[in-house]
Amino acid sequence: MKWPKLRELKEAVTSFVRGPYTHPFPAQPTPVPANIRGKPVYHPEKCIGCGACSEVCPARAIELLEVETPDGRLVRRLVLHTDNCIFCAECVRCCTTKEGISLSSEYELSALSRDGMREVVEKEMVRCELCHRGIAPRDHLLWIAGRLRGLAAANQTVFLVEMEELGLRETAPRDDRAMNRADIQRVLCAKCRRGVTLQDAWGPF
Ligand code: SF4
Ligand code: SF4
Repeated sequence: MKWPKLRELKEAVTSFVRGPYTHPFPAQPTPVPANIRGKPVYHPEKCIGCGACSEVCPARAIELLEVETPDGRLVRRLVLHTDNCIFCAECVRCCTTKEGISLSSEYELSALSRDGMREVVEKEMVRCELCHRGIAPRDHLLWIAGRLRGLAAANQTVFLVEMEELGLRETAPRDDRAMNRADIQRVLCAKCRRGVTLQDAWGPF
């Protein structure tokens, strides 16, 4: 009986001198591998607000909202609910720009309330000049224009938004007349452009 006790005593003294075998988390952060799938983070300067990440998220962790701000602007708001995320990285794989969202190495995600587990990005929407509904985020239209280059002129809305951005176009005020031919030269949603085009070809309907 004497020898086992001595062995335990030796282990206790050795442990006391060496310190704990376990990692001192949370006093110190635990080292993580380079390819860890941690908290997804948006990169607002690279994100164009297209919403593809929300479409592909299998956990429905990314909410897509259109919100009118108190100053009358329309914005697309992407709300990533980290508490629903399963860290599958589908949003990263399918990101349109490939740089709008990435998985960080942050793994310590506990919070005192669910409100502390939100990642939000907002993008200004371009409104249709006829029906005033949102068409798409301005950054998304400009990104398309950049990809199309000279071919952007084939889509009047994309082209006009790009001209606006370059300071080469100002939105002309519109009177209360019904839609007419001059509206072709306006930023329009698909439905209004179809209406204007049909009217131009077939007359008022
Ligand atoms: S990592 Fe997966 S679950 Fe999490 S937000 Fe991206 S797509 Fe959704
Ligand atoms: S650019 Fe990428 S991160 Fe931004 S909304 Fe589109 S898919 Fe999501």
